[in-house]
Amino acid sequence: MAQAPEGGPPAVAGVRNDKQDAAGGGVRFPHLVAQERAADVLRRALRSGRLPHAYLFLGPEGAGKEAAAIGLARALLCDKYRDADAGGEAVLPCEECPGCAQSRRLTHPNLRILFPLPKPKEGGGEEIREEYSTAQQKRIDEVLAAKEQDPYTPLSVPGGQEILVEHIRALRREFRLTSFSGEWRVVLISQADRLRLQAANAFLKLLEEPPKGVLFLLTSSRESRLLPTIVSRCQTLRFPALSTERIAEELQARLDADRGTAELAARLARGSWRAATEWVRADPAAEIERAVEVLRILVKGDPGEMDVEVDRLASGPGEAFARLLVVLADWLRDVMRYEADPERYAHLGRSQVLVKFARHCAGRPFEQAIEAVDDARLDLERRVQPALVAHQLFFHLRRLLFAPMPAVG
Ligand SMILES: [Zn+2]
Repeated sequence: MAQAPEGGPPAVAGVRNDKQDAAGGGVRFPHLVAQERAADVLRRALRSGRLPHAYLFLGPEGAGKEAAAIGLARALLCDKYRDADAGGEAVLPCEECPGCAQSRRLTHPNLRILFPLPKPKEGGGEEIREEYSTAQQKRIDEVLAAKEQDPYTPLSVPGGQEILVEHIRALRREFRLTSFSGEWRVVLISQADRLRLQAANAFLKLLEEPPKGVLFLLTSSRESRLLPTIVSRCQTLRFPALSTERIAEELQARLDADRGTAELAARLARGSWRAATEWVRADPAAEIERAVEVLRILVKGDPGEMDVEVDRLASGPGEAFARLLVVLADWLRDVMRYEADPERYAHLGRSQVLVKFARHCAGRPFEQAIEAVDDARLDLERRVQPALVAHQLFFHLRRLLFAPMPAVG
């Protein structure tokens, strides 16, 4: 296995924070943003040597569950942890040993990462890397490479609906065949709520007789979809959504974002560090301009102009459309707040455009309009045709916010 060309941690812009390094030894979580409480729980567990067989990290998307899981896995797989018997005063991961070089690339032989993947083709093998078409494999490799760079990257590939039972069975076989050699093995199961019945049952068998020296790290942002039998066998640790203020602070500290951009991005991110870093890169102020432009077109209600806009949204990159919808919903929420309490709102110094818009649409069902925007976002995620999504959205927003009110009586 290739050695790391450099000794230090990977130079990932903006996702390191040396302030969080544990003083006087212990686990560093250089990529984890905020979540000090969860990090402390994990540090204490590691130092005491009393790790459960399985952790379940719960919390909304982008809160840092997988950044923490990878951080913990890397500490356990560091040669210094093994050599010093539970780490002692070593700072983990040391980033200098061969184990760290491998875990940094997520290629450590004792680290398994399971996430929802497409069904393998008939007669496929049981190794994740052996059963997909070249295009699929390329996408899977890209996702893992992105995860290596930034642990906040979602492990998501097209057609990946569930964690495959074949992969759980392969794990069981592997753990049966190899006994504990004094080295930790870590299995990260991302989006554990995607363990469907068969896979979940196979996994439960593993949990019922946990192999020695294996730590399972499950993550989920959809707690209600987890099987209670799985939840009850894991130690739960919560990763709450980050506050807007904290996100803004961290964006300035870690990404050198200017204050205005950081505050805007933090608001749009709604508690997700991952979303926040995407917003900073996307120029949120420009996105808001764009959303306002779309609303102007809807106010005017010229069918030709609306069609042009639908085409523009549908033919552009899907992420751009999705971002526009987030901004639009946020903007409409602002309008709603302004309407509810203009006095208080005046202090926040919102734009004149927003005030004009609020007056224009006074008394309209904003909540329904926001729901329509959120529905459109979900439709896009479900891969409904963008043109159709845009059409429906425009139709609903026109009707809810701008079309003449039907005469009463
Ligand atoms: Zn190390």
